[in-house]
Amino acid sequence: MGRLKDKVALITGGSKGLGEADARLFVQEGAFVVIADVDAAKGQGLARELGDSARFLELDVRSEAAFKGVIDRVVADHKQLNVLVNNAGVVKPGSPESITEEDYRFVMSVCVDGVIFGCKHAIPAITAAGGGSIVNISSVASIQGVPYSAGYSAAKGAVEAYTRTVAVHCKMNNLKVRCNSVHPGAFLTPMLDDMLANVAKAGGEASDQFKRRVAGTMGDPADVARLVLFLASDESSYITGQRFVIDNGDGVTPLSAKR
Ligand code: NAD
Repeated sequence: MGRLKDKVALITGGSKGLGEADARLFVQEGAFVVIADVDAAKGQGLARELGDSARFLELDVRSEAAFKGVIDRVVADHKQLNVLVNNAGVVKPGSPESITEEDYRFVMSVCVDGVIFGCKHAIPAITAAGGGSIVNISSVASIQGVPYSAGYSAAKGAVEAYTRTVAVHCKMNNLKVRCNSVHPGAFLTPMLDDMLANVAKAGGEASDQFKRRVAGTMGDPADVARLVLFLASDESSYITGQRFVIDNGDGVTPLSAKR
């Protein structure tokens, strides 16, 4: 209890899935949480359930003006911003040969543009509050080859690289804003449900590849939330520019041991 006492945290994509788990844990640990999402119905419901320690603000992270507006509103209403979790993300199935321009641009705009706009406007706000933390949610797709969701892996690679850039920028300018990336394996959320259904519909090799990939242990979103909490809190005060994989060891397990 109290690991985020007196902190104000903004969580994008906080209405469902991993972001929802972050919001629940952050509130338990004493934070005031702003859930920012395109899904207003779910986000408002969650904020109501969390009571006085949370609110919902509608945000499409693809718009820089909208992202800046949300951060300005948080600072105006709550006097500070200490933590940003850039969690909003989308995935579309598609191999390097079948990927469509529309799907590619959509995935990049949510996963990458959102992170860039969020960091840009959170850095001065968190600095003004005396320092804090940005946590960018990437994926194991930034590390392993993921041919059935090619655009997504490109996007998550960009998030990992950009995290280091933000961390070094803040360090060089003494801004006291730390920035780290989290790389989940497979966690049971609405995103993963949709992905499994879409890839299964596509059929063939892509479907088999995907099933093999996710057939390992499915994690609980609360596992990711505990890692995000550590990186958001002052307990990780000397850690910045790092990537944290959370996959129950799947990425380091040899194929022979997976059978
Ligand atoms: P999810 O689809 O269950 O939830 C994502 C949330 O983001 C939703 O509430 C959705 O409404 C919101 N969102 C989508 N587009 C948005 C936009 N333009 N602006 C604001 N909000 C938007 O997904 P999840 O599984 O909880 O994923 C959360 C993050 O974790 C994503 O970045 C995802 O890529 C990453 N991730 C998830 C897994 C997994 O196995 N679930 C694995 C690796 C990485």
